Amino acid sequence: MNKSTLKKIKLKASPVEPVYERSLPWADFKHLVELIISDNRNRKLFESSPDAFFQTVDLDLDIFSAKEALDVYLGKQKKAVRGNPYIRKWRDIFRLVSADTEQRIKPSNFSYEALYEWMERKKKALSWESVAARRSLSHYIVPIMFELTTGCTGYCKFCCFSTKPLTDIYLYTEENQQFWRKILQITKEEIGEVASVGGCYCATEPLDNPDYEKFIEDFYQVFQTYPQTTTVKAVEKTQRMKHFMEYLGPERLRMLKLRFSVVSLEQLAKIYQKYSKEELTYVELLMNNPESIRSYSHSGRAREISEEMEEKTFCSFPTACLIGFLVNLCQKTISLVAPRRPSEQYPLGMEVIAIKNFSTPEEYRRMIGTMMQEYMPQKLSEHHRVRFHSRIKILCEGNTTTFYGEAIKRVMSLSKEAQAVIQCLQEKDSVIGEVLQEKSFSKFLKECVLQKLQYLYELGFVEVV
Ligand code: SF4
Repeated sequence: MNKSTLKKIKLKASPVEPVYERSLPWADFKHLVELIISDNRNRKLFESSPDAFFQTVDLDLDIFSAKEALDVYLGKQKKAVRGNPYIRKWRDIFRLVSADTEQRIKPSNFSYEALYEWMERKKKALSWESVAARRSLSHYIVPIMFELTTGCTGYCKFCCFSTKPLTDIYLYTEENQQFWRKILQITKEEIGEVASVGGCYCATEPLDNPDYEKFIEDFYQVFQTYPQTTTVKAVEKTQRMKHFMEYLGPERLRMLKLRFSVVSLEQLAKIYQKYSKEELTYVELLMNNPESIRSYSHSGRAREISEEMEEKTFCSFPTACLIGFLVNLCQKTISLVAPRRPSEQYPLGMEVIAIKNFSTPEEYRRMIGTMMQEYMPQKLSEHHRVRFHSRIKILCEGNTTTFYGEAIKRVMSLSKEAQAVIQCLQEKDSVIGEVLQEKSFSKFLKECVLQKLQYLYELGFVEVV
């Protein structure tokens, strides 16, 4: 067998698309799922009378498989008959995207272990305060996000960030272009390749910036991938969006690089008028409209409307996937943030640990380093100011200490000295050395307590402030 024959066989064995997709109307099935998710009335009709529901939709579907896949999606049925084409396709998309993400967020893609470990500790801490977040820890993976505007023209009623109206736009002037490129390069050096999962919007609307596409092209030049874009302007800016979709191209759309936020059924109808099912095949529609079966995070403006919306579920899930640095280019600020269970204390579902200003790219680099040093030590020492996790309750009985989070507990054996220090740290944040001094512990006891604190720090129970 010569080499050219070998090449041909290889190509046949790994087609670009799975064979079944050629006859699979995936776009129709996706549309069907959207109809169910966007409107609870559709879901109720489907659940009470699937045949009547299917008569209301004009889609090219294998009804048996589609119904079964929907039942699995809605949790009514655990498993589908082997080989359900819609479920296979769904899993294929999911696998493709998650394999790419997994690859990007692996520990070796972080420039500093300290950042990776800090993110892990913050995730553990979050998992103790919210069951909903614990079930979705893979959501919190982004170490850095950029904002290219200040404020937003979205005015979404459920906005989890309570974002104020637009006040500033970072335009792609020659000067800003140079600055931005340096910021990206430094980000790659200081945060690492993992920054490629970051985005160029956070509490902002990407299309509010007329130069958004130019900024993300630079992002691509540095990270060889485009950041995900989520916009609420799919209807308002259809022409621009269609160009954007062409610019991304099918391969990136297939990686779910584009999402439309849907805020009303009226807007959804307009999206369906302006974009064909085929165009939307790989554009995720985030059903944020009030009638949707999706719950809102009980954060930001959603907290204000929660009492008026009896039918809606509001969950303790912080929305932002960011655990790390939030950089606003208009204000030249860099904030260190972590997701928290939405509450009176953290109404946005996010804790801002520190904010620093920078005026030059080199200062930006220094600020990242300073924050890592101050807030992400790998080893605790007596000079660190720490606090005990505010949402973990403790019960001490003899040497047995039980830690309680939301629907989770852990029992540990702790000396009475360690228990006393934890109780102090629960009351107020303190410098470790000062607490140890107050208790007049011997050198040996100090060392033992410090070791326990280190252990609790690694579990996310103790935080540096
Ligand atoms: S949800 Fe997003 S688009 Fe809507 S107001 Fe908030 S930041 Fe703006």
